[in-house]
Amino acid sequence: MNGFDCDVLIIGGGPTGVTLASLLAKRGVSVIVAEKEAGIFPLPRAAHIDHEGMRILQDAGAAKAVISTSRRANRYEFRNAKGKVLLCFDGAEGIGAGGWPVANMIHQPSVEAALRASLAERAPEALRGGWEMVAFTQDTRGVTARFATPQGERSLRARWLVGADGARSPVRKASAITFEDLGFEEPWLVVDVLVDDPARLPTANLQICDPARPTTCVLMGEGRHRWEFMILPGETPEAISAPSSMERLLAPWNVTGAVRIERTAVYTFRACIAEQWRKGRVLLAGDAAHQTPPFAGQGLCSGLRDAANLAWKLAMSVKDEADAALLDTYQPERAPNLRATIDMAIMMGRMVCTTSRVGAALRDAKLGLARMLGKLPDGPPAYPPLATGVIMAGSPAAGSYFPQAVASNGARLDDVLGPDMWLISRSSLDERTFVPFAEYLRHWLDRHQAEAVLVRPDRYVFGTGAANDLRQQWSAALGTGLVSR
Ligand SMILES: Cc1cc2nc3c(=O)[nH]c(=O)nc-3n(C[C@H](O)[C@H](O)[C@H](O)COP(=O)(O)OP(=O)(O)OC[C@H]3O[C@@H](n4cnc5c(N)ncnc54)[C@H](O)[C@@H]3O)c2cc1C
Repeated sequence: MNGFDCDVLIIGGGPTGVTLASLLAKRGVSVIVAEKEAGIFPLPRAAHIDHEGMRILQDAGAAKAVISTSRRANRYEFRNAKGKVLLCFDGAEGIGAGGWPVANMIHQPSVEAALRASLAERAPEALRGGWEMVAFTQDTRGVTARFATPQGERSLRARWLVGADGARSPVRKASAITFEDLGFEEPWLVVDVLVDDPARLPTANLQICDPARPTTCVLMGEGRHRWEFMILPGETPEAISAPSSMERLLAPWNVTGAVRIERTAVYTFRACIAEQWRKGRVLLAGDAAHQTPPFAGQGLCSGLRDAANLAWKLAMSVKDEADAALLDTYQPERAPNLRATIDMAIMMGRMVCTTSRVGAALRDAKLGLARMLGKLPDGPPAYPPLATGVIMAGSPAAGSYFPQAVASNGARLDDVLGPDMWLISRSSLDERTFVPFAEYLRHWLDRHQAEAVLVRPDRYVFGTGAANDLRQQWSAALGTGLVSR
């Protein structure tokens, strides 16, 4: 390979790194994932994946396995100390624009196992467990990284290196990239349980906005449930995690005999975003690039979106189908979406984490008034469309999320049309491939008064207009004369 061990070297075999590897392998890119641990991190972290995340897992070959081990909560409620509902999101079971249920409660180790199984099929040698990256250098053509491995020191050379190495990211630190602190820091105790008697557990996801003890209670996949308790000023992690304290915290839920504690952990929920997501041939993705408090369930989902945004750009770049400058659009496209998800999580977090009685009473009154005036949202807001980057700015729907139609026979649009970009014109709707989706797609084109739409491989709309014009603009945007399909 011209002195390269692979095209893309990914540091970190968490959900972001393995998803990216799987998407790259599917697009014919040679990839290696170096993960310092021998196996999957065995304890649950993320509990929720949204419909867009599921669509990315579909591309990564893991969605069927994930959906079979996940559950749907019937609603997401924010209640005050007296049990009054302040805010409520319904419709988790409905199908979202991504073509999958809106909200899926998962068990992160099972999701990671599904991703690894798919990667093993697509690129059997890609994942190197027990390989810890200790240092790297980059030059204009590539990156060389050194590893401590069970077989001794090894080195690898690649055209690109992606740091998907989590919140503490050695790649980010070695690149001297700093974090912008978005001003949220709260320590919480997380308690995960194995469920023996599901009938005694809530069927909704709950935020108990009690100033005396803000508490979260959510479903998870694989027969598990989670409570999270805010740690109050003056409490220590050791004291709150003690068995007697745990008994007190769980007492109001009346679940003795219905659940067994699997683990407890203290996490500090933070909001921050890396100042720079690309430095030469090094990119950051997932928790290495950003962290969000978990109230909107978007940490893992954001890493999946990073992977989807990066995969096609890296693939086109290594195959010389696009200029490497394409990678410069990664951060400007993703960061506004990230900020919106973090803002949403912080808004929810502030609502939940109020520990002053007066503050809580004011919040309840404000929300009560908003409810009376019909001004409360009934679901999380849609995150913003792309406003910059690889889009045909100014054409209707450019930068918006293109939905995945599901045909009456269960066929999904993405599986039928494949992983490249799509050019869908009114005249093409009579072709056999499109027939099961023709009505849906015609309706989409009508709604945007468009003759044709060009959809990017990550399923954002490049632009709408005349088919030939779209082709030309797409080629120009990629910086070459080539079009992928
Ligand atoms: C309590 C809690 C609740 C959460 N709830 C949700 C939720 O409901 N929904 C949601 O979307 N997200 C949630 N999250 C966030 C989610 O778990 C993370 O965003 C997700 O795990 C990030 O994935 P990642 O692959 O980017 O990083 P990680 O999962 O941290 O993976 C990074 C990997 O890099 C490896 N690594 C590190 N250094 C090196 C090195 N030098 N060499 C090789 N490998 C290295 C690590 O071993 C690790 O396996 C929650 C998190 C917590 C803690």
